[in-house]
Amino acid sequence: MKDLGYYVKKFAKLRVDRASGSPAPHKPILLLSVIELIQQGSIQYNQILLSPELISTFLKYWTHLGSNIHRSDIAQPFFHLTGDSFWHLSPNPGFESTIAAKVKIKTLSGLRNAVNYAYVDVELFDLLKDPESRAYLIETIIQTWFPERSIDFQRLYNVDAFQEVQLKLFEKGGAVYNLEELTDEAKVVVRDAAFRKIVVSLYEQRCAFCGLRIISLDSQNIVDGAHIKPFSEFRDDRFDNGLALCKNHHWAFDRGWFGIDDDYRIMIPPDRFTEESPQETRPMKEFDGEQIILPTQAAYYPRLEALSWHRQRWNIA
Ligand SMILES: [Zn+2]
Repeated sequence: MKDLGYYVKKFAKLRVDRASGSPAPHKPILLLSVIELIQQGSIQYNQILLSPELISTFLKYWTHLGSNIHRSDIAQPFFHLTGDSFWHLSPNPGFESTIAAKVKIKTLSGLRNAVNYAYVDVELFDLLKDPESRAYLIETIIQTWFPERSIDFQRLYNVDAFQEVQLKLFEKGGAVYNLEELTDEAKVVVRDAAFRKIVVSLYEQRCAFCGLRIISLDSQNIVDGAHIKPFSEFRDDRFDNGLALCKNHHWAFDRGWFGIDDDYRIMIPPDRFTEESPQETRPMKEFDGEQIILPTQAAYYPRLEALSWHRQRWNIA
């Protein structure tokens, strides 16, 4: 029977790599991270995404409970936990046979590409939602895998790691990275998400172009944190290189269908597109000459140099 006792045994006997002499801590650290997010409510359904929240929580535990002889790599346990029979992967469209054949996927980007989410046995998910059995399972992991680290764990548990990354970035006013800082895929994913989230919050979740603002009950929103000068070329995560835009206007901005002038007014070149709008929806072209919605603090207004670079790149005069 798949009851608490069954999973306590499973957690105590995780199949981990011992080739280097000491057991690899990846799997127990990933499980602790998942459990924390379930408790926090950021994992509400039995769908475990490789989200910035999960990755940053994994990195938090790794920094304090991980080992020096192993490489911190969330992709490893996220894939290999399937060998412990309670952890399963749900493929993205087109990757069904890859996942079914258990083809090894080694990189984080590869996994994010191929896997929609991981899920655990229904019985286990129910146990993890229950505070008492959850505490028992945490205790099992700590006692088995980190027996001397119980105090460290208590200190770390429920310290919101993704929030901390955002806070640090926010205090710095953003960052410009050099190439060497972008070699750790996991950190790149987390930092990118932090930048985007902060930019969106500076615009109070509104599209700077059209004002659209939709927030779901679990506080997801429809607006993107966009880069004015593309990150791939400039690695510029300063907030004045950001702009909050809905999907349509993000797409249009990235293709030069509109620019923004030095007075923050929308410029729509006459020669880029034709449009038909449903009734009551304002056509894009009608926004020509209107000021975008700006952050409340002038320090976070889009940088004029970046806006001018964008106009030049797309020939908007
Ligand atoms: Zn919009």
